[in-house]
Amino acid sequence: MSGPKRKLKNESVFDVDSVLGVVKPMHAYKLWHRMVRKSKMQFDDEGLSVEAKEVKEYIDEGWSLPKAGIAELNSRFTSMTSKVIETKVSSKGNTTKLLIEVQDGHLIETVIMQHHNYNTVCISSQIGCKMGCKFCATGTMGIVGNLTAGEIIEQVVYANSVRPIRNVVFMGMGEPLNNYDNVRQAVDFLLDARCFNLSVCSRLMFKGLFLYTFGISFHVEWCIRQL
Ligand code: SF4
Repeated sequence: MSGPKRKLKNESVFDVDSVLGVVKPMHAYKLWHRMVRKSKMQFDDEGLSVEAKEVKEYIDEGWSLPKAGIAELNSRFTSMTSKVIETKVSSKGNTTKLLIEVQDGHLIETVIMQHHNYNTVCISSQIGCKMGCKFCATGTMGIVGNLTAGEIIEQVVYANSVRPIRNVVFMGMGEPLNNYDNVRQAVDFLLDARCFNLSVCSRLMFKGLFLYTFGISFHVEWCIRQL
């Protein structure tokens, strides 16, 4: 189900299906693995940012990556398309909110919750939401647009640079199954052992991914298969 169209100039290197259209999975996953491991937050007078590395800085000479693939990766994709413009730590110090600006100027919120010995991040899947739940501030906005797979994954990359993330919950802005295609790509990425290696949720889970939905019926079958 698609939302209103957004005009986006840059493609994220975490736009999974687009990158897999350019290079073989073995190369794509090597690149993503390096990016997830090597992305570091920097704190300075300007606030907080991920090291501004170009995609090419994550590609080293040792790969048997075809030259055409390297050129297209460098010219088409950006390492982070969004930026963190504000961080707020709660008075108890156990919650960190990241206010993230996506490339067309909209703001989304990502929240890191620190538990006794692990961290959970709550991420957004859409800008606004059309479901209109009465108790929810996002519901009053209506739907502005879908986040790309890259924008969804970038939230976890940012959060993981602040604190090592063990759980991801889709409970931020948006109904995830109204942005099925991008959420599917992001979930596959987050579950993949070569990237974040999360587990799907279970009752006794210690590490995993939760997707909360109002139950958009024709995508529930996919959820059941995944979970
Ligand atoms: S589905 Fe979630 S984000 Fe959307 S209006 Fe309801 S509670 Fe808010």
